[in-house]
Amino acid sequence: MSAWEQNVRKVVPYVPGEQPGQEGIIKLNTNENPYPPAPGVARALREMESKQLRLYPDPAASVLVEALAGRYGLRPEQVFVGVGSDDVLAMAFLTFFNSGKPILFPDITYSFYDVWAKLFGIPYACQMLDENFCIRREDYVRENGGIVLANPNAPTGVAESIEGIRWILDKNPGIIVIIDEAYIDFGGDSAVSLIPEYENLLVVQTFSKSRSMAGMRIGCALGQPKLIKYLNDVKYSFNSYTMDLPALKLGVESVKDEEYFQETLRRIVATRERVKTELGKLGFVFPDSRSNFVFVSHPRIQARELFEALKERRIYVRYFPKPRIDNYLRITIGTDEEMDVLLDFLKKYVRQKER
Ligand SMILES: *Cc1c(COP(=O)(O)O)cnc(C)c1O
Repeated sequence: MSAWEQNVRKVVPYVPGEQPGQEGIIKLNTNENPYPPAPGVARALREMESKQLRLYPDPAASVLVEALAGRYGLRPEQVFVGVGSDDVLAMAFLTFFNSGKPILFPDITYSFYDVWAKLFGIPYACQMLDENFCIRREDYVRENGGIVLANPNAPTGVAESIEGIRWILDKNPGIIVIIDEAYIDFGGDSAVSLIPEYENLLVVQTFSKSRSMAGMRIGCALGQPKLIKYLNDVKYSFNSYTMDLPALKLGVESVKDEEYFQETLRRIVATRERVKTELGKLGFVFPDSRSNFVFVSHPRIQARELFEALKERRIYVRYFPKPRIDNYLRITIGTDEEMDVLLDFLKKYVRQKER
């Protein structure tokens, strides 16, 4: 190894789901929304002119911050925005987790948390979910440098109650608790309602799933003004212009159209419930999902083998070769038509296996 190489910051990166380029595949592997963003987003995109790109965007991202503040009944000083919630979460880890004590998150959760912890040199301790993939609240009552919970959790889809979140906040005064609500719009109670009561609570959300804008990269953090100020100090020390002009304009259009948003959510939740019923009939078992995906296992079929068979049929789902979940598949809820193709395939597959 050459001298310079010994001084490289070596990291094992997070591995996102595949983005296969081909036409005609059914893509249920990265929890994207099958429906387009609000019509106003398309309109604003058409009306955008390249000469607008000559100037730097507003570093404070004011139009988007104000739209989000209005949507959540908060003040603009309570809203931070970033380049997807991955950027927001990374910034929050960097800003708040400097005590030298281990931060806590579940053993089965979003697999970016441990990657950021290692990147930033933050010690961490994973807490085992119970056999139903639920959090054991008592695990979060011990000396720690911060807590991160995805609610609903990924890749399980299991939601923690607002009472559970409140209990953990009450047991951890003086500790920053981050609730990653990437999937909250599909079901479950948002911790945004607790913000006025807890100065140590940071709620993180994204436009990637419920708002159909994964390609635009918009995320936000909501919390009391002091937390948001510290986040902005770090952001301005890193990159003043994280949010580009299209993101600001198109993000506002999405937030403005509450009716379209609710209608899209309603459709996905209806499809999810129908898919749960059908999967149950085929013998699949799964925790009760409150998100836009289901996390399924079958008593007589190997997940890895089914994953390969689905891929062969050009249906992409997500498989995690990890302890405790290596016999599960995470399947994103697509359109009804896409889910029918999936269900038809599974019916034949299960029948043939059980012959
Ligand atoms: C998808 C996801 C994110 C990141 O989403 P962005 O596209 O970066 O906004 C964060 N947390 C969880 C749990 C997710 O599933």
